[in-house]
Amino acid sequence: MDGSRRLNVMYRCWAEIDLAALERNLRLIRKALPAGIRYVAVVKADAYGHGILPTATRLMQSGVDLFAVANVKEAAEIREMGSGWPILVLGPLLPEEDEALATHDLIAAVSSVEELDRFAAVGREAGKKLPIHVKIDTGMGRLGAWWENASDLLRDAGSRKELDLQGALTHFADPADPTFTQEQRDIFLGILGEKNLLGNPDFLVHADNSSSLKALSGNDPCNAVRIGILQFGVSPPAGTPLANLSVEPVFSFHTRIALVKELPAGATVSYERQKRLDRDSRVGLLAAGYGDAIPLTCGNRAEVLLRGKRHPIIGRVTMDQTLVDLTDGPEDVQPGEIVTIIGRQGDEVIELPELATHANTIPWEILCSVTKRVPRLYKTTRE
Ligand SMILES: *Cc1c(COP(=O)(O)O)cnc(C)c1O
Repeated sequence: MDGSRRLNVMYRCWAEIDLAALERNLRLIRKALPAGIRYVAVVKADAYGHGILPTATRLMQSGVDLFAVANVKEAAEIREMGSGWPILVLGPLLPEEDEALATHDLIAAVSSVEELDRFAAVGREAGKKLPIHVKIDTGMGRLGAWWENASDLLRDAGSRKELDLQGALTHFADPADPTFTQEQRDIFLGILGEKNLLGNPDFLVHADNSSSLKALSGNDPCNAVRIGILQFGVSPPAGTPLANLSVEPVFSFHTRIALVKELPAGATVSYERQKRLDRDSRVGLLAAGYGDAIPLTCGNRAEVLLRGKRHPIIGRVTMDQTLVDLTDGPEDVQPGEIVTIIGRQGDEVIELPELATHANTIPWEILCSVTKRVPRLYKTTRE
């Protein structure tokens, strides 16, 4: 397929979000998990750039148990869609945000005694018991009570009459390192075991993310997983437990040829005065740059798809345009033709991790860097 009839409505560039693929991924991951494991859908950062409302709606309809977001503002967006869905706020709240726990009916992840005090005060004021999970720092050095203090925090959390301790979590620093991850897991489960907090289906114990799904084995005491990027169809790094699950990409990114021009050998391209073309060249200007979603660092490195074939980006990516070398491509390329930056054209595919590698970054960051200028078009077909 040449891609030119991909959509009826044309844009300069756009992201396609395949909600049916999201639903299929969710089902696939669920099937790989033992029965009874709760699925926490991580939809922070506007659902990894996919758009929180359409994404969370589809996930709700397809059966997740809990949503996890980074902050209260994101939680409020999901809560707008209806009451009843449990929403866990992973990040720490700023003091003026505490009240939202009661007004929006949220679950807080608690790292400190100071937070217990603050949230208990909110619960007292609101006249209700606020649900919390205790976060244990087993090696991230980020959120959570340092593991040596975690027992005390768990005891304190369990004793507050304004708070309802419903779960505990930790986060892995380097799932590609099985030894270190196992150490973190052992510390976490050791503390919860001592406190008799394992084996209770009403108490959520969760550590795994997309890259570390040990809970898959069925004999892990964790009874919930937190899945972010995997549900969006980006496989975790090789060597991690779910690396081979055949999820489908949910996100693709396309733009169009805006201008085709011929440049002589020796001409300079883009902002690099030192770089000279070594041959007479046909150059296509894409109607997208780093002001949309093409990382600056892709210049002279990444490739794009046009008519199902790869073509290299040349020169620096600029804010609004990106240059592509079409010299070895078809001679009749016209303004308006579709170019795929991330996604499939015919048999060729450029997956997100490939672009991320060229951009010296990780797939998560690429998804979070798609700007406002890029319309998100939703494909919603159910199968
Ligand atoms: C973002 C996040 C996740 C999800 O990670 P993925 O690798 O995208 O699955 C899980 N847990 C916590 C605490 C997170 O911040």
